[in-house]
Amino acid sequence: MKPFTYVRPADGAEASSLAAKNNQARFLGGGTNLVDLMRQNVETPAELLDVTGLRANIEITASGGLLVGSAVRNSTLAAHPHVRQHFPVLSRALLSGASAQIRNMATVGGNIMQRTRCAYFYDVAGARCNKRNPGSGCDAIGGFTRYHAVLGASGHCIATHPSDMCVALAALDATVHTAGPDGKRSVPIIEFHLLPGEHPEVETVLRPGELITAVEISASAMAARSEYRKVRDRSSYAFALVSVAAAINMAQGQIADVRIALGGVAAKPWRAARAEEILRGKKASKEQFLDAAESELAAARPLEGNRFKIGLAKRTIAAVLGDLAGDAA
Ligand SMILES: Cc1cc2nc3c(=O)[nH]c(=O)nc-3n(C[C@H](O)[C@H](O)[C@H](O)COP(=O)(O)OP(=O)(O)OC[C@H]3O[C@@H](n4cnc5c(N)ncnc54)[C@H](O)[C@@H]3O)c2cc1C
Ligand code: SF4
Repeated sequence: MKPFTYVRPADGAEASSLAAKNNQARFLGGGTNLVDLMRQNVETPAELLDVTGLRANIEITASGGLLVGSAVRNSTLAAHPHVRQHFPVLSRALLSGASAQIRNMATVGGNIMQRTRCAYFYDVAGARCNKRNPGSGCDAIGGFTRYHAVLGASGHCIATHPSDMCVALAALDATVHTAGPDGKRSVPIIEFHLLPGEHPEVETVLRPGELITAVEISASAMAARSEYRKVRDRSSYAFALVSVAAAINMAQGQIADVRIALGGVAAKPWRAARAEEILRGKKASKEQFLDAAESELAAARPLEGNRFKIGLAKRTIAAVLGDLAGDAA
């Protein structure tokens, strides 16, 4: 591992000013992803700015929503009684990720910014990777693609975003608050991560020196009727092949409103806006759910090794919505 300096900035302003001055600096959350990447020389920062002492609180807003500091640990957020009662999809998504020990260390900011698990991205010695080394090529294309994207990929990168939490945040229409040299910004989570296009090395809208400070989730009756389901190769300690976060609001057997987001299928949490549009105002039924899922997945462009994800995603969407609709379906 390359030697680096370690700094604990006093506040967010100092953290972002230090990061803006040094493009070799990285923010350090729990280190559960960044330190692994450093050990394998995928990332070689010269300076680590430890931001775990900043914004580690969870506030319940006046309307019953949540303002979650970026340094809040994944396990703390998952166990919070308000989260469990009013935003079950978020608690379940967090608990389906990693292991208890990793969740105790991992922070909200780090979870949002964690890098892909594409094996070729980690293989510094043996694989070409446009994300790690722009312009070098992508050995995943034509390689082992079981864990790769079927939606929104490009000829330059087919990686997926590994976070479970972000899929729940996408279904909950969360907002990411940031602070940086140009001031504060608020970005909808669904616009925060970027599809690869020609530049897979650019993964988010964060600017140099910009720090995630908090995540905000508005209160909604729908969020209390929400679910996260993760399909994976092992029953724990594995990343999603496909995951579905959904929330539904039923009125007299009809779907008054619905939110659906998919994980494991794209370089960002994939909001299934097309499926949502089809379902609004319709009577809940298994056929209707499958029909909406079919429309959402029509845009999928699978490779030989991940074609199975299309059927898996459709069935998982239909199953989760069926459970949420209950007797109405
Ligand atoms: C064995 C293993 C299994 C795992 N399984 C899962 C899984 O099933 N599901 C899942 O979702 N995750 C899984 N993870 C990933 C885990 O969730 C992430 O490693 C973790 O969330 C990262 O958080 P962290 O605080 O440790 O981030 P760090 O490793 O400290 O940082 C990650 C990135 O975030 C940046 N960063 C940190 N804080 C901020 C901030 N405030 N603003 C801007 N940038 C910031 C860092 O610079 C770095 O680039 C697994 C990890 C391991 C090691
Ligand atoms: S899929 Fe993306 S991350 Fe994986 S090797 Fe190709 S460019 Fe790199």
